[in-house]
Amino acid sequence: MAESFVLNTGARIPSVGLGTWQIEPGAVSDAIYAAVKTGYRHIDSAVAYRNQEEVGVALKKLFEDGVVKREDLFITSKLWPGNHAPEDVQEDIGSSLKDLQLDYVDLYLIHGPIRIKKGTMFIPENLIPTDIPATWGAMEKLYYAGKARAIGVSNFSCKKLQDLLAVARVPPAVNQVECHPVWQQDKLRKLCQSTGVHLSAYSPLGSPGSPGYSGPSVVSNPIVISVAEKLQKTPAQVALRWGLQLGQSVLPKSANQTRIKENFDIFDWSIPHDLMAKFSAIKQVRLLKVEFAVHPKSGYNSLEDLWDGEVEYEDERTENQDHSDFLRCFS
Ligand code: NAP
Repeated sequence: MAESFVLNTGARIPSVGLGTWQIEPGAVSDAIYAAVKTGYRHIDSAVAYRNQEEVGVALKKLFEDGVVKREDLFITSKLWPGNHAPEDVQEDIGSSLKDLQLDYVDLYLIHGPIRIKKGTMFIPENLIPTDIPATWGAMEKLYYAGKARAIGVSNFSCKKLQDLLAVARVPPAVNQVECHPVWQQDKLRKLCQSTGVHLSAYSPLGSPGSPGYSGPSVVSNPIVISVAEKLQKTPAQVALRWGLQLGQSVLPKSANQTRIKENFDIFDWSIPHDLMAKFSAIKQVRLLKVEFAVHPKSGYNSLEDLWDGEVEYEDERTENQDHSDFLRCFS
């Protein structure tokens, strides 16, 4: 099994990346250092995770200690939703590069089809409609300037990806989306495969326990557990390996050194065809619905609108959920 996938730029994206959302302040450096020592060569970061400076400190130490060179790593960052205006995009990557202590990122993503007013907090009252073609034009300039070796999007539905592909001079290299056995994204995966856009799977373990997530768990899903028992692997390893075998990179987050190693130990075995087939029986639920973006000011009138129909109807638990913790992660 490939330890990397080829992007439409010709560059390779390592198939397992360390997620950094919600790694506690003070724990980021140790997690990244442990991950790179384990063999990870791909780190997923974002200004929205509010720990990019620490990511930068960890990278500097890895380079200074001679553990890896810059060119050995694949570093992703993402555009802050308040900096979608074309004239703000260059400054946005500049501040991420400063935090990361890098000259370029390997991948820079529009974090989502969600925008807020410049200089404001990430709360529903500050939402404004996006203008993705204009923002993408500025992303293309970063690509031409070499500040981002690849550019892409995140949280784009099939329709939003097709709309972008229709106007892009530089096609997106990646669409980073929620993807795991409980939300398999079959339609989007087929579109990505047919258009040469790499699908990168965030929350590949279903983000157990995260604020804003709802619905069934991935690592306690009975089918995932039964496959894991048959292969004598953990449910997390099976969920990650399932993603690799479908051709997508996976971005598990862990701040725990044992689980960081466990999540990387997925290359010298595989899920046989008959067991892969069992995943098609899992009921499909989008866990991160991003309900707060449905607001008169965002231009999204419903979840159907936001996700262009790629979401099941909300269940009772979701409707009653308090999203304040999730919003705090971004504010
Ligand atoms: P995830 O990776 O699916 O799950 C992380 C959770 O699983 C943590 O609580 C972690 O706890 C636990 N965990 C890790 N390894 C485990 C294992 N082997 N067995 C059991 N539990 C395990 O969730 P995520 O952080 O939401 O997603 C991963 C990354 O994707 C993020 O960190 C971020 O980089 C990216 N992301 C991007 C977007 C976007 O909008 N583009 C949205 C969400 C996430 P411990 O730390 O204690 O191990």
